[in-house]
Amino acid sequence: MIGHIPADRLLAHARELAAAGGPPVPESAREVADLAVTGPVEIYTHTRAAAAQGTGSVLMSSGGTTGRPKLTHVPHGMGLDRLLDFWRPLRPGDVLLNLFNAGRMWGSHYYMQTLAEKSHCTVIPSGPYSPEEVAGWLEMFAEVGVTALAGTPTGLADFAQGVLDAGAAAGATAGTSIPERPVHPVLPIRTIIWMAEPWTGNKRDLVREAFPDAGLWGNYGSVETWVMAANQPGCDETTLHLLPGQIMEPDEDGALLSRVGDGWTVPVVRYRLGDRVAPATCRCGRPDALTVLGRADDSLTLRSALFKVSELIDLVRGEPGVVEAQLRLTRSTDSARAASALTLDFTGTAEPEAVRARLTGEFYHLAAVARQYPDALRARRVSRLARIERTNKVPAMVWQETPANDDTQQHETEGENAA
Ligand SMILES: [Zn+2]
Repeated sequence: MIGHIPADRLLAHARELAAAGGPPVPESAREVADLAVTGPVEIYTHTRAAAAQGTGSVLMSSGGTTGRPKLTHVPHGMGLDRLLDFWRPLRPGDVLLNLFNAGRMWGSHYYMQTLAEKSHCTVIPSGPYSPEEVAGWLEMFAEVGVTALAGTPTGLADFAQGVLDAGAAAGATAGTSIPERPVHPVLPIRTIIWMAEPWTGNKRDLVREAFPDAGLWGNYGSVETWVMAANQPGCDETTLHLLPGQIMEPDEDGALLSRVGDGWTVPVVRYRLGDRVAPATCRCGRPDALTVLGRADDSLTLRSALFKVSELIDLVRGEPGVVEAQLRLTRSTDSARAASALTLDFTGTAEPEAVRARLTGEFYHLAAVARQYPDALRARRVSRLARIERTNKVPAMVWQETPANDDTQQHETEGENAA
């Protein structure tokens, strides 16, 4: 268990939710484990009722690019008064460049707009830039005094790459003569807010190189629950702290979140997240630390051989010359979690054969599949991994209907627990 709530307090809260249409609380219930596990249906029921009798809401959705969207009404204040007591990345007067995608009922862009408003900051609702676009905007960003960035690690790394490229290009043009003013505008970025996907080493290195004075402020949340945990400069970058008033029960099928008190976007008791989490310790010394281990549903089969997506990706990322990796899967007709072919796409300089050999060397059951069906397991070096159009994230895997030589019909596999 991560965090602490007295059992009688949690039971009283569960009875209030039961009276408002939530699952009934058994007479014999004495502790959290006696309460029902809840899901998106309860979230939608509670938030819709609150929006109808309160001050309205913003209707958000997780996933929904393929399949049925899961809806949540988020109150306009977005629970930020409660959050800001615990986590305050922006100072009055900061100028925040909001690099999150807008629209399509995704929450992060609007969350940052509201955070800037509550923090008395100026905010630029720009959305993401490709590295090639950045040079054309840098002068304006410097002129208006941008001090903070917010985005996914992918979006932040693109922006950092653009800043570094612009500096290198300006330096090359300036040659050996001494310029009268800086060869390219320098952005004095102090704060970087990130969420919605994990860092990879190369993305973090790019961001650090472009913005050496910036502190990293991380968020862990979902559209359904909004912010659950956060970290800040001084913390381990992969460790987050649960906000007070909540408990999280680690579980192989997805962690369970409960919270008490007022001011949250949604009240929840034992809400099942799509991620596995584990208790952790943080170098900052503060309590209630956790790490997100990965998706709960990331077990798949390749021609009946069972594997975890996160284990394959982690292994391949450790191979020299591999920068980033992604699984490209051809769906089998047998089941939704079964693949008939797997291509491991990666960026970097490694040889595809070496990467494939690493996979078959470590996963003997995949090696057996590869012996029997040589075309079912491949590795391929690419210049750029596939992204989710709605969120600009790089997912760990993409499904496609045709084999990997043909880049058509790829499907998104967006995780729900990434606000
Ligand atoms: Zn910490």
